Amino acid sequence: SLDAARRAIATHTRLVPDFPQPGIAFKDLTPVLADPVGLASVVTALTHGCGDVDLVAGIDARGFLLGGAVARELGVGVLAVRKAGKLPPPVHTRTYDLEYGSAALEIPAGAVELQGRRILLIDDVLATGGTVVAAAQLLISAGATVSSIAVIMELAGLGGRAAVARELGETTAVHT
Ligand code: AMP
Repeated sequence: SLDAARRAIATHTRLVPDFPQPGIAFKDLTPVLADPVGLASVVTALTHGCGDVDLVAGIDARGFLLGGAVARELGVGVLAVRKAGKLPPPVHTRTYDLEYGSAALEIPAGAVELQGRRILLIDDVLATGGTVVAAAQLLISAGATVSSIAVIMELAGLGGRAAVARELGETTAVHT
């Protein structure tokens, strides 16, 4: 249930000050996922309100763990949205700005049919939203519809939800 997920998150999240940069309070959800009740409740919570979904996409790296489990729960397949340089060619690539520097995400081009498919996009934490927006734009540029984005934790005040609304519009719902 959602309450079980909330309890597991409150109990097991590890707060790491000044990682990966000074001033960042890193929310490490690793112990939540290592707990049997935590994993089961969080995976179920991520499926809430997602509507009809044809494929789940999980963002590197905790989104991979969650994405596979969520896909299994929904009875659909899963696609990994990977950091650049890991997938064999051909790939679609999207570069995006980070607070310091830039990063790039990739998905396969052609290996998986994405045209017209409704995707539930999964990550662990929504901060500025740059990562989920880039992942969604990558999937959209390959012809998919990103109908929902689901994360375990939203860091309020960093503008992630607003960035999703601004960049992706109202067709993409955000669930936390
Ligand atoms: P974003 O700023 O939304 O693009 O977040 C960048 C990536 O880093 C996402 O995949 C988040 O899961 C992760 N992230 C950002 N800030 C934090 C934080 N304070 N604690 C844990 N993960 C974070």
